[in-house]
Amino acid sequence: MPGYISTRRAAPRLNFADAALTGLARDGGLYVPDVCPQISDEELRNMAGQNYLEIAWRVISPFVGEDISAQDLILLLQKSYKNFAHPEKTPLRKLEDGFYVQELFHGPTLAFKDVALQFLGQVFDFILKARGQKVTIVGATSGDTGSAAIEAFKNSPYANIVILHPKGRVSDVQRRQMSTVDAPNVRNIAIEGSFDDCQDLVKAMFGDLAFRDSMQLSAINSINWARILAQVVYYIYAGVRVRAETGKAPTFCVPTGNFGNVYAGYVAKSMGLPVEKLIVATNANDILHRFYTTGRMERRGVVPTISPSMDIQISSNFERLLFDLYGRDGAAVAATMKHFRDAGPFDLSADIMARLSSVFASGRKDDVQTTAIIRDFYRRYDYVVDPHTAVGLGVAEDWKHAHPDAVMVTLATAHPAKFPDAVKAATDVAPELPPHMADLMAREERYDVLPADLAKVQDYIRAAFGGAA
Ligand SMILES: *Cc1c(COP(=O)(O)O)cnc(C)c1O
Repeated sequence: MPGYISTRRAAPRLNFADAALTGLARDGGLYVPDVCPQISDEELRNMAGQNYLEIAWRVISPFVGEDISAQDLILLLQKSYKNFAHPEKTPLRKLEDGFYVQELFHGPTLAFKDVALQFLGQVFDFILKARGQKVTIVGATSGDTGSAAIEAFKNSPYANIVILHPKGRVSDVQRRQMSTVDAPNVRNIAIEGSFDDCQDLVKAMFGDLAFRDSMQLSAINSINWARILAQVVYYIYAGVRVRAETGKAPTFCVPTGNFGNVYAGYVAKSMGLPVEKLIVATNANDILHRFYTTGRMERRGVVPTISPSMDIQISSNFERLLFDLYGRDGAAVAATMKHFRDAGPFDLSADIMARLSSVFASGRKDDVQTTAIIRDFYRRYDYVVDPHTAVGLGVAEDWKHAHPDAVMVTLATAHPAKFPDAVKAATDVAPELPPHMADLMAREERYDVLPADLAKVQDYIRAAFGGAA
């Protein structure tokens, strides 16, 4: 049976079902598998002709073990991806030889978060139903996680869901995708603060063990292992196809915020997928780009940008990578994270940075550049992209100039209609919402505004769902 251990090594080892339900470990760490399942090169070559669900089943099943039978896992995967608008789920589009885009935004809320959260919703309902258990899901969103989570869990008989978003810092489309869902188990809170404040509040609620236990708290943020797992699939889906077509291992360029997406690429590589490089693309909130350039992790204030889902200064999932970089030494991870929280910047040794640079690289695009990239891709390829995807495409082009032999796959993380203002400013074209969302701007909204105050948020959640859990 695969087991899951905390990156701080001071929490119990769990099976897949418990790791998925728990989210953040009780010692403050993140769950990772104790061994990473492998896929042989021969099998990877054979996977190039398989469809998304076949690949998903092959990639996910060894991580799940006996918690979900092979047959049940097939059903869960079918249900997870049935609402995707494209038959290939995460199709690859070739813009030039050696330059691909993988569209991850064909799910119900038009961002790549659906790939993970539709699966997580199915996994939760399956496990909770089997156990006769009920949970309260609490999550923070910089914009896209919240709607994807609400869409995945609305009307679940087994889960209530509370989503915190930074007031005024998500797009109108993003907010409305959350606030217009009319379901008794859904609550939205606009927090007077930044996304990091929202994330800190969620962490603090999980750190309050009495509250956590009494409310049966459960996390669906990108720290949730089952989410990472679902995202590993599309790297393998793209990687095997691109290699079959070009004979080369791809370089993935990933618009990055919380490091969950690009960490899934690292897991795919760890399973055996040939990957030339993983490139972390950031907007002006460039803590990760500065880190890859200097070896120093140093937090600064968050500035709002036109790619708000990447307006993050603390990338939670980075801790999982740190765990491997430190030779899986949980005490060292705990000490570094404590230092980072209490004292400030930390530096990695030249030796660790050298290992890191063999796998990862980084780039940065500010808003002015991002707008120019959207315009440029529209003119050159008649291809309209959202600002997050544009950050990735711009960084990927720079890399391709410097490494002409590289085969680039840029992950398109959102549909352009999710960010109409930025897209219209760049192209003069207003991207249209797909038919199932055409009346979004006319639907009635429901959300409450609270200060970034732990006690007030806890009171609100107790009042909404206390006793229901
Ligand atoms: C969440 C999100 C990102 C950042 O992904 P992480 O996994 O947090 O690195 C990038 N683009 C869009 C559109 C997103 O919704």
